[in-house]
Amino acid sequence: MNQLKFLNNGGEMGKLIRERDWSQTPIGKPETWPQSLRTTLSIVLSSKFPGFIFWGKDLLGFYNDAFRPSLGNEGKHPHILGLKGEEAWSETWDIIEPLLSKVYNTGEATWSEDHLIPIFRNNRLEDVYWTFSYSPIFDESDSIAGVLSTCVETTKEVYARKQLQKANQQYFENIMQTPVAMCIFKGENFIVEIANDMMLELWGKEAHQISNKPIFEGLPEAKGQGLEDIMNQVYTTGIKFEANERAVSLPRNGGLEVVYLNFLYQPIKDVNGEVKSIFAMGTDVTAQVVSKHKIIESEKKLSVVIDSSKLGIWEFDSKENTGIFNDRYAQIFGFENKEQLSQDMIGKLLYPDDETIRESANIKVIETGILNYESRIYNEDGSIHWIEVNGTMFYDDDNKPSKMMGTIKDITDEKKYKKDLIEREEKFRLLANEMPQFVWTADANGTLNYFNKSVYNYTGLDESILENDSWISIVHHEDQTQNMSLWSNSITTGSDFVFEHRFIREDGESRWQLSRAKPLKDNDGKIQMWVGTSTDIHDMKELDQQKDFFISMASHELRTPITSVKGYVQLLKNKYQNSEDAFLINALNILNKQVTTLTTLVTDLLDVSKIKSGSLLLKKSKFAINELVEDVIQEIQHINQHHQIIFCQETDKEVFADRESISQVLINFLTNAVKYSPDSLNVSVKSCIDNNYVKVAVTDKGIGLREEDKKKVFDRFYRVEGKNEKTFPGFGIGLFIASEIIRKHNGKIGVDSKMGQGATFYFELPIED
Ligand code: ADP
Repeated sequence: MNQLKFLNNGGEMGKLIRERDWSQTPIGKPETWPQSLRTTLSIVLSSKFPGFIFWGKDLLGFYNDAFRPSLGNEGKHPHILGLKGEEAWSETWDIIEPLLSKVYNTGEATWSEDHLIPIFRNNRLEDVYWTFSYSPIFDESDSIAGVLSTCVETTKEVYARKQLQKANQQYFENIMQTPVAMCIFKGENFIVEIANDMMLELWGKEAHQISNKPIFEGLPEAKGQGLEDIMNQVYTTGIKFEANERAVSLPRNGGLEVVYLNFLYQPIKDVNGEVKSIFAMGTDVTAQVVSKHKIIESEKKLSVVIDSSKLGIWEFDSKENTGIFNDRYAQIFGFENKEQLSQDMIGKLLYPDDETIRESANIKVIETGILNYESRIYNEDGSIHWIEVNGTMFYDDDNKPSKMMGTIKDITDEKKYKKDLIEREEKFRLLANEMPQFVWTADANGTLNYFNKSVYNYTGLDESILENDSWISIVHHEDQTQNMSLWSNSITTGSDFVFEHRFIREDGESRWQLSRAKPLKDNDGKIQMWVGTSTDIHDMKELDQQKDFFISMASHELRTPITSVKGYVQLLKNKYQNSEDAFLINALNILNKQVTTLTTLVTDLLDVSKIKSGSLLLKKSKFAINELVEDVIQEIQHINQHHQIIFCQETDKEVFADRESISQVLINFLTNAVKYSPDSLNVSVKSCIDNNYVKVAVTDKGIGLREEDKKKVFDRFYRVEGKNEKTFPGFGIGLFIASEIIRKHNGKIGVDSKMGQGATFYFELPIED
């Protein structure tokens, strides 16, 4: 037995080897075993480190107690002891055999870490991981006789690591998928280790722009906003940082935009408590912050509105019977601020005579939930003020009144103004009623609401004519349409109403009236009402008609003798044109000029009566405007040699017009230009195109016109008043006729002028192609 000393300390495995009858095996009794096997076996058996020996060419297996647990129960132990390698490890032989061959062939040891070598144990084939080394065992003849495997089973560690990896994976996946922006910054440079889509969206970056880069390199836009300092602090102190609604500029829509963020920086520490990374979580709360700002803004605006409206605000708790109010409320009672006014004091400051008003308003609140009344209060200084109270009732869940909120307004001035207005209106009516003229008023919309007594006396009607615009019935039916259209034009434009129309008298007769109405405006220029008068002009109108009739008759009667005189003057001129009697020639020239003037005057007068009676007719034809202008210039130039008339033609357009009348207009312009510019030598005429009109303009450098006269010169018999007037004889009808002629041609007539700087009179005729 001495020879088997090498098996002495082998524990269970030593015992098994000792007890085995090896004589029947190819290796023979232990006593015959080579020294190299004995030595290796004794080392392995006494080692506490797991070891396995493959021996000889059959690779017979020996193992120690420390290796034993790796074989499990119900498995290879103990029958693989001394068994051929191929048989003992049949299930994994294709993994083990190449490694063993390598050792045999090269004589070099192998090293495998966490290598999967499944093993049949515990009644099944289990996945087992090993970290092991195969090293050669040399025999006495220096050749490799076996392989020593020192190994540790690392299955548990491998599983634990896998578990950890899985957990990590899960953790990362969780971060990636959570609906909150999350990321991890690694190390002191804050390298973006992981960031989910929401975080990328928050940063306004793509993953490739920022992943695995220091955050302030991948997102330089975030620099200089204090975030570096915060992160450094979290990293060095290990204390988390939370921010609410922090404004940060970040890339948005191709530029930088301020966004508001809620975020958390949470330090992540290792087992030694050292910060290794920072976990960050953020939410974009821009929309909420913006709407909060808007609310604050609108609250501010509301308070500005309330302040400027001078409304006192109050709230009354119906259950507690207590009230609160603002400073303005107290100021309406004459106090400086709300602290100076108590609920009790308010009760004493209410005007006792208005008790019934307040009571009935309070009864109404119960029915309608709305409070609205006007009553008086005593001011702190004893004066009496009118206030308007408005309020709304609020109800609790049981539909019981819980509180009331509302406003009060000092309406003392308003009341006084209204009272004054009523008094003034009363006075106006008293006055208006005594007037022989018709006086009437209308509201801003043009609805007539008042006639003075004269209207009722004249028409024999009563106030019902004010209803539904039935007043129009007092207007003669021929004048009604134009009356209505002029009136509604004044209402919409705010311009004065002026109209001559007939009113039907009680006896059915109608008389001409000149009606005028003016709008009354408030301080802001808004129309408050219209005041109108109608004056009887019937007699004047008749006289006017008689005058027109007379003018018409006279001009007719005058025309024949004047034409005859003109003819004889012409005959005389022809007859004596070569006479040497200078006096005769001069007298005939003067006669001719005066007869021409007289003819023009009579023709003009006749035209006026034609215009009045509507019998001025046009004989239209197509002609070149320049030819007409040249003819007229020649004619005028002939009579007025003092002035030089220059014609500038910018168009050669033809017009479709009454040649005779247009000549008359131009003659009037030129005669006036010469007449009203005695100190100047030139008059210029220009023909051109202006928009869709052919325009002819006559410019002189004469006395010019005042602004207010420019429109009026086209009125009948209008002559500019002033000291120059006597120097320039005339009737004031030439321009009236000219404007009527141009109006009948659907053209335009006008004047540009400045006092003392000459005038440009022009007419425009529409181009008709
Ligand atoms: P009149 O016969 O008085 O000239 P018109 O109807 O032709 O009548 O002219 C009306 C008024 O217009 C004239 O009285 C004059 O005051 C003014 N007027 C007309 N043409 C000119 C002009 N070229 N320069 C200044 N005032 C003019």
